[in-house]
Amino acid sequence: VTTTALDELLPGLAPLAYVRDPRQSFSVLGMPDHWRLIFRLPADAPRGRVTERPAVRALLEHALPSCAGRLDVADAHTYRLASYVLPDYRVGRVLFAGDAAHLTSTAGGMNMNCGLHDAVAWGRALTRIHRGEADERVLDRVASERRAVVTDKVIPRSEARTAGIGDTTALRRALDGIGRIAADPARVTDYLFTASLLDCAPRPRQPAG
Ligand SMILES: Cc1cc2nc3c(=O)[nH]c(=O)nc-3n(C[C@H](O)[C@H](O)[C@H](O)COP(=O)(O)OP(=O)(O)OC[C@H]3O[C@@H](n4cnc5c(N)ncnc54)[C@H](O)[C@@H]3O)c2cc1C
Repeated sequence: VTTTALDELLPGLAPLAYVRDPRQSFSVLGMPDHWRLIFRLPADAPRGRVTERPAVRALLEHALPSCAGRLDVADAHTYRLASYVLPDYRVGRVLFAGDAAHLTSTAGGMNMNCGLHDAVAWGRALTRIHRGEADERVLDRVASERRAVVTDKVIPRSEARTAGIGDTTALRRALDGIGRIAADPARVTDYLFTASLLDCAPRPRQPAG
């Protein structure tokens, strides 16, 4: 975390930027009062030492050499990617949603979106039961549909975001693919639609359950 105004040091820097390089990939996120840089570290990197200021500064300056000597390090944390999904989102009267039901890689930023969609789907199902429009079977259907979104959509899409990140040829192929999508407005819309999980968001009206 840096409070240095990165957009002033790097004119034209987008508020959300992904740098893909087989040697060191990272993401840059502009927050209202700070910038957050997220680096992928080797799995065996010693957890305590990598967050010490000199190590973080070295990582930053290697990634952004033109900013060397001008970056403050306000804070640093590590986290590990997780991929878990509950076998069932419903246990009797207990309904699971969000991170309580699924944890996935942060790549692509989909897990919270998916959790919000879970909450909407549960809310709609409970409303229908409350209004006498559906019976409890609707809960089992929502549980199974929402779980399938994680296993069939969120996890594969999230993993695709980091595919080939450590391999120059695979990375080139992945970036060329993104470039072809970016050059085609119709495919851009489809890409953004699926990247935002809008294709698997709960529909406004669920059929009777
Ligand atoms: C570094 C990072 C970056 C991320 N980036 C993105 C992104 O760009 N886009 C995206 O969609 N997702 C992202 N995520 C994932 C997202 O943050 C989570 O999916 C989301 O915050 C989960 O929300 P939640 O409400 O389900 O769970 P939580 O945010 O974990 O909320 C659960 C709450 O319950 C409370 N609680 C726990 N136990 C109890 C108890 N016994 N009694 C009362 N309260 C309790 C906790 O204190 C907590 O406040 C990111 C995650 C990380 C770690």
